[in-house]
Amino acid sequence: MQNIKHFRPTKAIINLDAIKHNVNQLKEYLNPGVQIMAVVKANAYGHGDIEVAAAAIEAGATVLAVATPEEALHLREAYRDIDILILGYVPVSFAPLAAVENITLTVFSTDWVEQVNTLTFKHPLKVHIKVDTGMGRIGVTNLEDLQNLYHEIVLSEKLLVDGIFTHFATADEEDETYFLHQVTKFEEFLRSLPKRPRLVHAANTATMLVKDQTLQYDAVRFGISMYGLAPSAYVKTKLPFPLQPAFSLETELIEVKEVQAGQSIGYGAAFTASEPSFIGTIPIGYADGLIRKYSGQHVLIDGVRVPIIGRICMDQCMLLLPIAYNIGKKVTLIGKQEDEEITIDEWAKKGDTINYEVPCIITSRVPRIYYKK
Ligand SMILES: *Cc1c(COP(=O)(O)O)cnc(C)c1O
Repeated sequence: MQNIKHFRPTKAIINLDAIKHNVNQLKEYLNPGVQIMAVVKANAYGHGDIEVAAAAIEAGATVLAVATPEEALHLREAYRDIDILILGYVPVSFAPLAAVENITLTVFSTDWVEQVNTLTFKHPLKVHIKVDTGMGRIGVTNLEDLQNLYHEIVLSEKLLVDGIFTHFATADEEDETYFLHQVTKFEEFLRSLPKRPRLVHAANTATMLVKDQTLQYDAVRFGISMYGLAPSAYVKTKLPFPLQPAFSLETELIEVKEVQAGQSIGYGAAFTASEPSFIGTIPIGYADGLIRKYSGQHVLIDGVRVPIIGRICMDQCMLLLPIAYNIGKKVTLIGKQEDEEITIDEWAKKGDTINYEVPCIITSRVPRIYYKK
């Protein structure tokens, strides 16, 4: 699928069949008629927005959800007809272009609506109202503000209310107290409207997979599990269908050397060999998203776990090898080799973070190579 020649052996392999599998599985699980919004913000969580969107649409997603105007425009160039929703804040100045490009925006402020009303553009602009039921991020927080906003939009000649949504802060946790409090508030908001908008949506991945199926409403926002990852350790134990991870990360050994006991490796001489050892160098470093915190993480060679040692450099890092492998030997940082697998979840644990962050921060210097049968 990819014609560009890449010289450096470091690459992310994106399995588009896995994306399709995950969307297909979800489609079977959802209540009939519920639309799937493929959340492809942040370059599809680092997987590649255009290609992931194609796979998701092919498998049945009917809306693409992104975070910014730039992300929406990038996808609109490739897909003229699909609905695109920007979930995040958009400056007033983007409204006319959004209308021309049929990009749906999120609104939560009457001020914003009043400013848009002063602009001149002729296409109607579709909007989804965002209500804040406990996330504390964007969205109107009380019934009165919702009434005002709703009526301003209905009165506006420029805007059309197409949807309303909220976002849950704790859907991936076992304790449902806070979650149910948010559900109650959302239901109150919905009941207060004179007319229910076309698309009511609330479910992120965790909600759609492990919570009450009525919370699927008219559409669900499928993010992390479209990429084959569970939103949390708790949700991982309750998944209604198996997920297939889509992201692998590979490179090759570019140097192998034997060092004597007492010899140190890398910046700060932070690792010192305690016995005669083989040290391998791989061409990937923190400028590729392999942050220094990952030092000590294992990678795979011939199905064997091998640790990253010393400090990770900007463009390279070093491995402690069990034997003197040949240069050019394949190294899998994320993915499977023989019976062993190193998951994104394992990297997240090593980095004291969540799996979402791991592929997102693999930088654009690492080419994404797309695989499908
Ligand atoms: C990112 C995002 C999602 C997707 O969340 P996942 O946990 O990846 O499913 C859904 N809704 C909103 C508003 C988001 O910002």
